[in-house]
Amino acid sequence: MLPKYSLIIPIYNESETIPELYRRVAAVMNRLDGAAELVLVDDGSRDRSLDLIRKLHQQDERICYLSFARNFGHQTAVTAGLNFVRGKVVVILDADLQDPPELIPDMIQQWRQGYQVVYAQRTQRRRESWFKRFMAYSFYRILRGLADVNIPTDTGDFCLMDRQVVDVLNAMPERNRYIRGLRAWVGFKQTAVKFERDPRFAGEVKYTFRKSLRLAINSIISFSRVPLQLATYLGLFAAGLALLMVLLVLYWRLSGPGSPLIGFTAIAVAVLFLGAVQLVCIGILGEYIGRIYEEVKGRPLYILREAAGFTQPTDCFPTHQKS
Ligand code: UDP
Ligand code: MG
Repeated sequence: MLPKYSLIIPIYNESETIPELYRRVAAVMNRLDGAAELVLVDDGSRDRSLDLIRKLHQQDERICYLSFARNFGHQTAVTAGLNFVRGKVVVILDADLQDPPELIPDMIQQWRQGYQVVYAQRTQRRRESWFKRFMAYSFYRILRGLADVNIPTDTGDFCLMDRQVVDVLNAMPERNRYIRGLRAWVGFKQTAVKFERDPRFAGEVKYTFRKSLRLAINSIISFSRVPLQLATYLGLFAAGLALLMVLLVLYWRLSGPGSPLIGFTAIAVAVLFLGAVQLVCIGILGEYIGRIYEEVKGRPLYILREAAGFTQPTDCFPTHQKS
């Protein structure tokens, strides 16, 4: 029998939180009104996470897991989970208990009202550094300004999705998976459930500053063409400046001797300015071309080294072993 509810949790070196995570998630699963499965996606953890996951799978038949051959990143782990889940209702949450599983029944309540996407929206981030809060705050607002889709601010991947939405997401071939963005892009009836974000239960943050920055750049490039137009605007701006200079020099020449001459500094500034503008524009082009390259290569999104608990054949990827 297929489960009604599926929970997806990406896991990367979370051995300290897994026991507590299981305790809280299982408590919520026991109270649901239908059968539930818990899909744990091990994103190439290097600690004891996979051992703990295997043990949980033996203890509790509702638990299935996937394990990646290496670390492919959070968004890819969630994507793999989406590919494999079987429930009618799918919930994605983080492993570190920053997304309280106790909110799931409220989300299901909204789903019953007819919403196909219910995303959790943070009202507060407790005890995260002011730098992280500031970066997150400004990023979500910049993204909203630039993107073609309206991605709700202060939402993460914590959400509930109907089977119909999951099928649409799975059918999207693109490799750059910014789940929050894709989720907003597909449309359907969406609503928010507010919650206060708790601090991480244990362990280190797995998103380093570099990974977060990459995710931010990826999300902007995947959902906006505005940066590409930047070259046009900067070019027009530089042309305007040049015209102004020409007019000024002409005016000085005509108004007699003793007029100020353009010296070395002015030339150096102009050359450096133009050089900088050109390099930035090439960089932006490079970001887009790099993504085209990624798409064209068409490598699999992830490689599985192990999977267990799935009844249906899971042989969509050649290197995957069934167990
Ligand atoms: N994660 C992952 N792969 C990674 C980095 C993180 O699967 O390369 C998982 C991690 O185990 C956690 C979730 O993604 O379940 C969010 O990570 P984290 O809590 O470190 O990030 P933040 O709270 O800053 O979003
Ligand atoms: Mg976290």
